[in-house]
Amino acid sequence: MTISGSDSAPLDPGARVDMQRFCSTLDRSSSIGAGRPGGLSRLALTDADREMRDVFVAWCREAALEVRVDRVGNIFARREGREPTSAPVLLGSHLDTQANGGRFDGVVGVLGALEVVRRLADLGHTTKRPIEIVSWTNEEGARFSPPMTASGCYAGAYTVDWVHDRRAEDGARFGDELARIGYCGDAPVGGTPDAYLELHIEQGPILSAEGTALGIVSHAYASHGFQVAFTGETAHTGPWPMERRRNALVAAARLMVAVDEIGWDHAGTGGKATAARVSAWPNKAGTLSEWAEVVCDVRHECAVTAGVMAERTRRAIGEAAARSGCDATIVDSWSWGGRIFSDELAELGRLTARRLGYSWRDIPSQAGHDAYFLSRVCPTAMIFTPCRDGVTHNSEELAEPGDLEPGLNLLLHVAAARADR
Ligand SMILES: [Zn+2]
Repeated sequence: MTISGSDSAPLDPGARVDMQRFCSTLDRSSSIGAGRPGGLSRLALTDADREMRDVFVAWCREAALEVRVDRVGNIFARREGREPTSAPVLLGSHLDTQANGGRFDGVVGVLGALEVVRRLADLGHTTKRPIEIVSWTNEEGARFSPPMTASGCYAGAYTVDWVHDRRAEDGARFGDELARIGYCGDAPVGGTPDAYLELHIEQGPILSAEGTALGIVSHAYASHGFQVAFTGETAHTGPWPMERRRNALVAAARLMVAVDEIGWDHAGTGGKATAARVSAWPNKAGTLSEWAEVVCDVRHECAVTAGVMAERTRRAIGEAAARSGCDATIVDSWSWGGRIFSDELAELGRLTARRLGYSWRDIPSQAGHDAYFLSRVCPTAMIFTPCRDGVTHNSEELAEPGDLEPGLNLLLHVAAARADR
């Protein structure tokens, strides 16, 4: 293959994404999996997820991208580079949402990557390295726990079989649902990209309050999560003596309150602790519950403090069980965060923001993202855009085109620079 001079020229510094095209693409996404007014409820591996995937794949094929789906349903769409054998630059995020989700969380990263690739095609700019768009399966964990399931599998944290065996609350099995919607692909899971870039709404109030156009994510809050099961015994709520009660629901409640208190104790330094989910069985009036499960997590910018919060949570689990006459088991636990992002890519982001004339700041990420797992595989960076008041995981989530445009242009130039390197 001969490479013409224009082929290897750097991307025109004046290049900008087509916001009209991006917004109409985003609008189409906003019409799939309607939730509360203005929001989405596009849970992973539902019919709405399938519809969104079908539309996304069609867009990728129209853009002459080569689409492949791996065994956990991650969708990759590749734009060939001038050196097809070199490792690709991966751009993406997720298309699934929370039950009361917004239109932007995750979606901006995937459709923004699509706009970048479309724009490069408009400009006739073929990067040296291939660029691949990725949409990760089940980032939210709203239907199947844990979150970031499929990016975790890609990074080697989970096996394919383990992922396929995850169960939703309604009993549905991940692997069966993946096959049902037609996205259990045959591509092997995993890879060694040159870099991973994820554009995402901030999901916090900092950029919007300051009026700063861009966040260059410098590090991630250290987070420790626990899935805790309490076991007690069913009994009648009337005659059964208080001293003999083993109500698992009460143990769960004690833990949930204790976790909240840990959060308040560290609120002054930005710590967060959340009991987000409880389930119980039989969970009926008139009967003490035999089983209850709590999912909770603690987060802090300082890893040492996060560790202290996690230790307090472990103690609270034991105390909640003891005071309620129940047994406690930590069914699953996870940790992430820290200085996981690539300094080199963050610096490229800062320099590019300056060159494009956008205001920017370094910012920590407090939410979990697929990028956390990707950082185990390759140099990784995240770019945050403002979202109104930081409202997210809520149908009121809002990022105006003007909030998103700087992030999209930054992604365009950073992706091109990295892929031409
Ligand atoms: Zn997200």
